[in-house]
Amino acid sequence: MASITKALRPLARAATASSRPLRPKFSRTAPQLRWLSASVPRRDMDISDIPPTPITHLSETEALMADSVSKFAHDAILPKVREMDEAESMDPVVVEQLFEQGLMGVEIPEEYGGSGMNFTSAIIAIEELARVDPSVSVLADVHNTLCNTAILKYGSEKLKKEWLPRLATNTVGSFCLSEPVSGSDAFALATKATRTENGYKINGSKMWITNSVEANFFIVFANLDPSKKYKGITAFIVEKSTPGFSIAKKEKKLGIKASSTCVINFDDVEIPKDNLLGDEFEGYKYAIGLLNEGRIGIAAQMTGLALGAFENAAGYVWNDRKQFGQLIGEFQGMQHQLAQAWVEIQAARALVYNAARKKEAGEDFVMDAAMAKLYASQVAGKVSGQAVEWMGGMGFVREGLAEKYFRDSKIGAIYEGTSNIQLTTIARHLQKTYTR
Ligand SMILES: Cc1cc2nc3c(=O)[nH]c(=O)nc-3n(C[C@H](O)[C@H](O)[C@H](O)COP(=O)(O)OP(=O)(O)OC[C@H]3O[C@@H](n4cnc5c(N)ncnc54)[C@H](O)[C@@H]3O)c2cc1C
Repeated sequence: MASITKALRPLARAATASSRPLRPKFSRTAPQLRWLSASVPRRDMDISDIPPTPITHLSETEALMADSVSKFAHDAILPKVREMDEAESMDPVVVEQLFEQGLMGVEIPEEYGGSGMNFTSAIIAIEELARVDPSVSVLADVHNTLCNTAILKYGSEKLKKEWLPRLATNTVGSFCLSEPVSGSDAFALATKATRTENGYKINGSKMWITNSVEANFFIVFANLDPSKKYKGITAFIVEKSTPGFSIAKKEKKLGIKASSTCVINFDDVEIPKDNLLGDEFEGYKYAIGLLNEGRIGIAAQMTGLALGAFENAAGYVWNDRKQFGQLIGEFQGMQHQLAQAWVEIQAARALVYNAARKKEAGEDFVMDAAMAKLYASQVAGKVSGQAVEWMGGMGFVREGLAEKYFRDSKIGAIYEGTSNIQLTTIARHLQKTYTR
């Protein structure tokens, strides 16, 4: 199968060369209008003279990315979705194909073997994958938006040279922050790191870690100096083969069953100095920054899921099922619900694309990412639940995918910050804006 992103590279390069959307230095942002924005723009960037376009408008490369990933997902993943869900495991061939298609190194520069595309392209890929299978989508999402980004943003040149080519072509990544004692209160983590002669030793347990079965690259947050409390948190890279690393338990879950979620133990795991990610004691800042971006990925996963659930049901009610002598989708009671659901999906997509574009433009996107994740997961839950009802008994049985979308939707309100945590972030930003 030819690689999607390799085919798109010349276009991506041309787009970067010809359309330079950001102009440093010449800020023309009208100060009196700033209060309308939820977040304050960075002063060294100016996007004020770019003609406004619809928020979901895609560049030629991005549009081709959407079409190609959609085709790949339908041809290569869809036939396996039910089987992988029932088996509660990811088909390794699917993971290989994600690498082959260049979908595991979307933002990794070409010099490191990646696809050299923009953040929005990664978001588009995550959305299109989730339209078909949210489990495959989250595998690519955690890998691209958390792991690859961590190395790109904070890795030394040595780490980049060592890991980016592997992350782009054959090594799945995993992001280990949560622990039995620390979920929403992530920085209460108890995993400890100590310095050794040659590097560091890690002891502790991580919980609910996505991709842990498939991954060989783990970003692990541990406290190097608990007396500093959360400011002692430091990020490390650990390989699965390191002595003392073990997967203690694979969780059985309500949804995204094909995505692996495990408890990982670290018993005197010794790693070399070079496996320090960035600087000591900066781990909490890295985690915050990465999760802010990652949230846009989860929001894209949830809009993709909502679209997939909607389309699956729309096909049924407008083509297949007749009652009282007519297609069930022709009853006004059904039509209004479908129309309302469509509006909500499009509103969620607008929030997702706006957050992605703001991140790319170098603007503050933290509140936008929180709004996108909160709303997209709400819409995914609501629409996938309604879709089950629109399909009646056929929506409830495991023959089709309606019930799976519904089960898969629940995770959107939990990982990478629960819905309450997103609301807290939004409220904090609002309070800052409105406090006199
Ligand atoms: C399938 C799955 C995959 C995951 N993947 C990863 C991964 O790859 N890496 C990783 O590090 N973690 C991962 N997680 C962990 C995930 O990020 C946490 O589950 C999440 O942060 C919530 O933490 P918790 O489960 O401990 O819930 P808790 O923090 O115990 O929250 C329980 C409830 O209390 C509410 N609550 C807590 N604090 C507050 C507050 N201050 N204000 C209001 N309400 C509050 C929450 O909103 C929630 O409703 C995953 C989890 C799951 C289920």
